[in-house]
Amino acid sequence: MSFLLRFNTVPEPGLVVTDRGQEYELIMTRPHRRKDGTPTVVLTWRSRCATCGEPFTVTTGLSLKDLNRRCPRHHRPGLSVNRSRKAYRRGGAHG
Ligand SMILES: [Zn+2]
Repeated sequence: MSFLLRFNTVPEPGLVVTDRGQEYELIMTRPHRRKDGTPTVVLTWRSRCATCGEPFTVTTGLSLKDLNRRCPRHHRPGLSVNRSRKAYRRGGAHG
C-alpha cells in the first residue's frame, strides 16, 4: 500500500491536492489526541462529489491514502449493496 501524500509538517489551509483527477482543498487543521495519547493533527479537506458534484468535507491525518471521492449521500462506508428483505408471514399451520 502506498500513501498518496504524507506531510512531515502541518500544511497550511488553502493547499490543494489532486487525487485521480479530483481536487481537495485543505480548509482546516486541528490538533487531535489519539486513544493511546499520541498527539496528531486532523486535516479537513473540501471536495466535490464525483457522483453529484455537491461539496463535501473529508478528514484525514497527516498521511493521505484513501480519500473519499463522494459525498456522504453517495459514499456509505461499511454499507454493502442494499438488499431488500422480504417480510413474510408465518402461519397457515394450526392445530
Ligand atoms: Zn453525491
